[in-house]
Amino acid sequence: MNRILLEGMLKKMKLLLKNGSNIGDLKIGALYALGNQLEAIFYFIGHELGSTIDDEPMEDKKLVNILKQVSDSYHLGTFHLLEENSDHITFGLESCRSCKDIDIPNIEIQQGFCSFEAGLFAGIVERITGKHCFAQELECRLSGKEAKMCKFMIVVPSE
Ligand SMILES: [Zn+2]
Repeated sequence: MNRILLEGMLKKMKLLLKNGSNIGDLKIGALYALGNQLEAIFYFIGHELGSTIDDEPMEDKKLVNILKQVSDSYHLGTFHLLEENSDHITFGLESCRSCKDIDIPNIEIQQGFCSFEAGLFAGIVERITGKHCFAQELECRLSGKEAKMCKFMIVVPSE
């Protein structure tokens, strides 16, 4: 699933609907952005689950530290912060649950294999920030390239 492309489609759809215009082509575009349906479903399930993770005592209000804490207590993998700024967080997940027990295949693995985790983290950040966030797996350990862990990006809208 191409989350960034999908978000763009949704944004345009909202605008066109408000103007009373036709959104037919955008629906096809959104379908394309969803790509492999299974991946989209896993993202959705992860996202729903992430929205329910609220039982942690969040004394430390720093978002990244909360994510680290949640990763540990729910055994999601080891959280490594790679980059953080006002509108996104990039992180690595070592021993990511979706792929840690799978050997690196000889075939090219499609992007976003660990979409369950992407959805999960988006759901968690959304609940904490109260903003509509989305996340994407940028690089999976299964791609067999340099990555020793899966790499994700969460986009947090600034407004
Ligand atoms: Zn992965």
